[in-house]
Amino acid sequence: MTPETIREALSKVPYPGFSRDIVSFGLVKGIEMEDGRIRVTIEVQTSDPSIPEKIFKDCHAVLDPIAGEDAVSIEIDRKDPPATTAEDQAGDGRSSIPGVKKIVAVASGKGGVGKSTVATNLAIALAATGAQVGLCDCDLYGPSIAMMFGSDAQPTANERDEIIPILAHGIQLMSMGFLLADDSPVVVRGPLATRYTQQFLRQVAWDSLDYLILDLPPGTGDIQLTIVQTVSVDGSVVVTTPQDVALIDARKAVSMFGKVNVPILGLVENMAWFECEHGTRYHIFGDGGGVREAKRLGVPLLAQIPIDPETCLRADRGTPVALPPADQSPASAAFHDAADRVIHALPAED
Ligand code: ADP
Repeated sequence: MTPETIREALSKVPYPGFSRDIVSFGLVKGIEMEDGRIRVTIEVQTSDPSIPEKIFKDCHAVLDPIAGEDAVSIEIDRKDPPATTAEDQAGDGRSSIPGVKKIVAVASGKGGVGKSTVATNLAIALAATGAQVGLCDCDLYGPSIAMMFGSDAQPTANERDEIIPILAHGIQLMSMGFLLADDSPVVVRGPLATRYTQQFLRQVAWDSLDYLILDLPPGTGDIQLTIVQTVSVDGSVVVTTPQDVALIDARKAVSMFGKVNVPILGLVENMAWFECEHGTRYHIFGDGGGVREAKRLGVPLLAQIPIDPETCLRADRGTPVALPPADQSPASAAFHDAADRVIHALPAED
């Protein structure tokens, strides 16, 4: 029995509600061993008392069999999360983010429809209009956005303990996935549960953004709802593919934004068709699904993006297809049209 074996055992204990464990979240502050006794100190930042209770039980469940029930002492130091001050709140209880003029959420009812691809290319196309743009990947499980921008940089913190976004292709990038990296700055360590997204976003040193794009996690559950309820989102873009199953989920996303009074800027129909070298269009996932759905829901159709191997390849290579020149391919042109529509659909500045 060594501190390493204890740490390894503790890495089987998930943080309640997350698939991530308490060790990689950086919550285990101390492991002491003396005369066969183990003392583990854990720090949790939450106002929910059931969380330390659950962690306490789960730690005993993994350590008791190793050391014996009476030899294990678990101490949990629960701290309240930082409070939101009254001046942080917009009139509707949502928080604005310092240094950011407009926030646009990009959502999809389900995964794999190209939401991150759309968020990335939309950010690039908005920046091409001369605007300052930031993009935040709100999915806790993996910084895919940074990859799409070809960056493996880790953010650092400034002297005010704010996280400095990574700059790639002129876009300020941040990812909640950085919360998980062991060498991330202290301010982003620990599971800021999703309701602290707002605090996370406020702790980023955004540099005078005209637009901040939030790439929401796929789906329409509590996580997504919480994010759009806590920050003052000015408009949302729902990404779908043309087949019925995707459209049903897109409808759910539209209804989610309706419930929390976030304006829908429009739908993006991704993978709308494939055009062969002779110009024939093949509607692989069905014809006109996005157009019909937009009409049905009474929301604009912002773009139809074709299935385009280059879009996929360039995302993998870290050079998104919407980078200049804008008209190099139908997919790129469609992203730039979508950006213009987004700009015009957003409410004017007060
Ligand atoms: P999501 O964020 O919805 O899970 P991604 O943006 O990660 O989806 O896209 C899933 C995969 O599909 C990626 O490999 C991406 O490059 C590819 N992809 C997305 N849109 C297109 C498109 N229009 N043409 C070809 N490939 C695409």
